[in-house]
Amino acid sequence: MSFSSMVKEEVSSKHTGGSIARHCALAELCGFTVYGAETGESTLTLHYGTDSKAIARRIEFLLKKTFQVTPEVRCEYRERRGAGDTVSGYYELFIKDPDQVEKIFQAMKLEIGDLPLPEMCVPAPRLLLSSDCCRRSFFRSAFLMAGTMSNPEKSYHFELPCRREEQALQLTEILESFGMNAKITRRKKYHVVYMKGGDQISDLLGLLGAHKALLDMENTRIYKEMREQVNRDFNFEMANLNKTVNAATEQTEEIMFIDSMVGLSSLPAELEEIARLRLASPESSLKELGELCNPPVGKSGVNHRLRRLKKVADNLRKEKGLF
Ligand SMILES: [Zn+2]
Repeated sequence: MSFSSMVKEEVSSKHTGGSIARHCALAELCGFTVYGAETGESTLTLHYGTDSKAIARRIEFLLKKTFQVTPEVRCEYRERRGAGDTVSGYYELFIKDPDQVEKIFQAMKLEIGDLPLPEMCVPAPRLLLSSDCCRRSFFRSAFLMAGTMSNPEKSYHFELPCRREEQALQLTEILESFGMNAKITRRKKYHVVYMKGGDQISDLLGLLGAHKALLDMENTRIYKEMREQVNRDFNFEMANLNKTVNAATEQTEEIMFIDSMVGLSSLPAELEEIARLRLASPESSLKELGELCNPPVGKSGVNHRLRRLKKVADNLRKEKGLF
């Protein structure tokens, strides 16, 4: 199941069965209606379609609870070609009694005469969205009908395509009233409301009441951040290690060159000591080499001696004309 479907499943099943205030029920039903219903062409009918059983149940619950209307429900199984060839259900709810449809529209303050047919695409009437609880309910059902959210393991992205600009503006206004900053972009004939970024998506899941998905996402986020930090640390260490190994290899080559030319015992005592120590422990750091000296010397002391060794090697090469 995609992350989007998971969130929708959680959001729609969570609120089924419980008690709900009439104002919130109307706002929620309005979201389902303007983002996912069709009206009949000739007679006044109302039709909702969704591929989620939980959403279909939710709409049915709201219609019964608020209007004592029992919609005619149809379920059709559709084969999905492609990965796994799954069969999924498509659920349709019909209200065919024009009186009932009219009653529902009036309660939601939707103007029947103004509705473009067959698809409805109007912003919700302002009266319906005057309080936080109702704005939240409306946004939730709009998301259930038309929104998508990407898998947080890949990216943090939410979007909801609207047919009309007024709808998109209304949604961004609602999100703004909850302190969220959504943007709008054009895609073909749609005005797409979108939000990006872990913090914003996290807030959005909170607004939708998808607490399990929110927790899952936060866990994924922590894991992702840790993995990135570990990678950064690892790369940093590898870079340093490579530097150390390269330097040690170069030092060893110089020392072996001196040995083959004049012998290490011809060197001043402190240089001979460090040369032999480096040959004996090619992987030791400068600090470790210094500790092996007698008496011990610091890192900069070791560095200084190694530079003098390099000079000796350079001079030998010059003398022998070996450039
Ligand atoms: Zn309310």
